[in-house]
Amino acid sequence: MNKEAIIAKCKELDVRFIRLQFTDILGVVKNVAIPISQLEKALNNQIMFDGSSIEGFTRVEESDMILQPDLNSFAIFPWRPREGSVARFICDIYTPENKPFEGDPRYVLQKVIREAADLGFTVNVGPECEFFLFKSNEDGTPSTVTHDKGGYFDLSPVDLGENARREIILTLEEMGFEIEASHHEVSPGQHEIDFRYSDPLSAADRVTTLKFVTRIIAQLHNLHATFMPKPLFGVNGSGMHIHLSLFKDGKNAFYDSQAKNQLSPAALYFIGGILKHIKAITAVTNPLVNSYKRLIPGYEAPVFQSWSASNRSALIRVPAARQSDTRIEIRNPDPCCNPYLAFSLLIKAGLDGIANKISPSEPIQKNVYLMTPAERALENISSLPSSLFEALEEMEKDPLCLATLGEHIMNRYVEAKMIEWEVYRSQIHQWEIDQYLGVF
Ligand code: GLU
Ligand code: MG
Ligand code: MG
Repeated sequence: MNKEAIIAKCKELDVRFIRLQFTDILGVVKNVAIPISQLEKALNNQIMFDGSSIEGFTRVEESDMILQPDLNSFAIFPWRPREGSVARFICDIYTPENKPFEGDPRYVLQKVIREAADLGFTVNVGPECEFFLFKSNEDGTPSTVTHDKGGYFDLSPVDLGENARREIILTLEEMGFEIEASHHEVSPGQHEIDFRYSDPLSAADRVTTLKFVTRIIAQLHNLHATFMPKPLFGVNGSGMHIHLSLFKDGKNAFYDSQAKNQLSPAALYFIGGILKHIKAITAVTNPLVNSYKRLIPGYEAPVFQSWSASNRSALIRVPAARQSDTRIEIRNPDPCCNPYLAFSLLIKAGLDGIANKISPSEPIQKNVYLMTPAERALENISSLPSSLFEALEEMEKDPLCLATLGEHIMNRYVEAKMIEWEVYRSQIHQWEIDQYLGVF
């Protein structure tokens, strides 16, 4: 849609308010609301905001930023009234000098997409978002009490979250999503929604949209939706598996009918690049202290740096589909990551693998959780970082991160996350009290 079409559409749909959205470095969606009278000004890229109060954005002396709405992201909020309705745009952020802002995660991803295009590749991304629906307490605060006893793929009526999930899907569809599947996941109260793959920018926009829409609709059902990676001890946590494929000249560049496993050299090198850089990238794909409580053996989340043509314990799995559907599934990311930065780093690592012909080790078909440390050492399989701190140390060591994110985001990200780690590290946890207080 062009500007004129958007203005006409807003009249037709009686839009009264516009939300101008963007995502901060830590992946939190922010927005500025403007009345419809300001629409033309917004479409002419004249809406400014003060970036200094946004996490990791700017210093006070350079605080004015411009919001440039991406016209493709126009959508109505279906849960708001239809008379006097609310529409949104996702925006790029520009400096007052009209240059893309180095601290805008969307800009980072746009640069990586361009780099891939310069090599003749288009990238497809398909994320799978998992989350929990918990009961809300009387005062509206979230609990960790689940509403159901359902399990993987279970059918109603055990699944009381089904109604909420159904409405989440219908809402997303109204906002232009093509939902491919949704189901109950393994843990009680856990669900998954998968939408159709697309170019990386649209996929990242959709992840951010899916998360806030899911929370809002759950709330309308008196439930709390959380994308926290491991809210409950002893059961599966929530991941955000990312499916990636490359196309060149309209053909899937990962598929080679003659090759072993029908995987092209480009596919193998792409896997090699991701395996090489994954320890550092984990600081972004798994951004919370809590993320590392999900990455432990036994809960379908990866722990070791391996790839497999099928086994789900591997970090990278190659789903069975071939020809134009040939793709890899990266299994360590979780839904709390900033999708713009996570996709950027994974694509950049894969392209580095192709540029430098980084061959991955042999695929491991066994369950890597069950291998002994000696067996893993023999196959050259090392572990993912076991804490946010370890991941941040890896991130600082790997030049790919700085090259992808740029100094502005890299420095502010590491700084904010190190503070998060230090605050956590100094807390006394209930486990320590239970374990030590009486005995020592
Ligand atoms: N919930 C699992 C995880 O933490 C993944 C389950 C699945 O294979 O879909 O990654
Ligand atoms: Mg799943
Ligand atoms: Mg999956």
